[in-house]
Amino acid sequence: MDCSGGHSNGEVILVSACLLGLPTRYDGGHCRSAEVVALVGRHRLVPVCPEQLGGLSTPRPPSEMERGHGSDVLDGRVRVLSTEGTNVTDNFVRGARAAAEIAETCGATRAILKEGSPSCGVSRIMRAEQAVEGEGVAAALLRRKGLKVDGIA
Ligand code: SF4
Repeated sequence: MDCSGGHSNGEVILVSACLLGLPTRYDGGHCRSAEVVALVGRHRLVPVCPEQLGGLSTPRPPSEMERGHGSDVLDGRVRVLSTEGTNVTDNFVRGARAAAEIAETCGATRAILKEGSPSCGVSRIMRAEQAVEGEGVAAALLRRKGLKVDGIA
C-alpha cells in the first residue's frame, strides 16, 4: 500500500474517516472536524473506519459494549451488541485489527479518533445513551500497538 498521499513531509497519522467528512457513521452521516481537516497537506493522514473495515454496512444500527471497555472486548470478556441485539463483537475486533494493520503498513505512530464511539472513543464511550469514561475497541488496540492516540469530540 502506498500511504504517501503525495506528501514527503509530515507525520503519518491514522484518522477516523468520519472526522474527515467521509459518510461512515452508523447513520450514514459524518463528523467533519475543521481541526482535523486543517491537518490535510501538513501531515500524511490515513482515514480508516474500523466498523466498516470489520464488515459492517453503512448505515447500520448503533452498537454498544455490554459493559467494560475496548480492552475487555479484545480479551474476549465482553461482547459488543447492536441496538437490534445482534452480536457484532467479531466485526469490532476484526475492524480494530485491520486498522492496526493499516497503521503498521503506513508507519503511523499517532491516531486521531472520534470520541464517544464504541470503536474509536479515546476517553469516552456511550452506554445506555449516556456518555461514560472509557475507550473503544480500535482505540484500545492502537494503544496496545504503541500509537499515541488522541480523541476529537
Ligand atoms: Fe467514525 Fe470510527 Fe464510527 Fe467509523 S467507527 S464512523 S471512523 S467513529
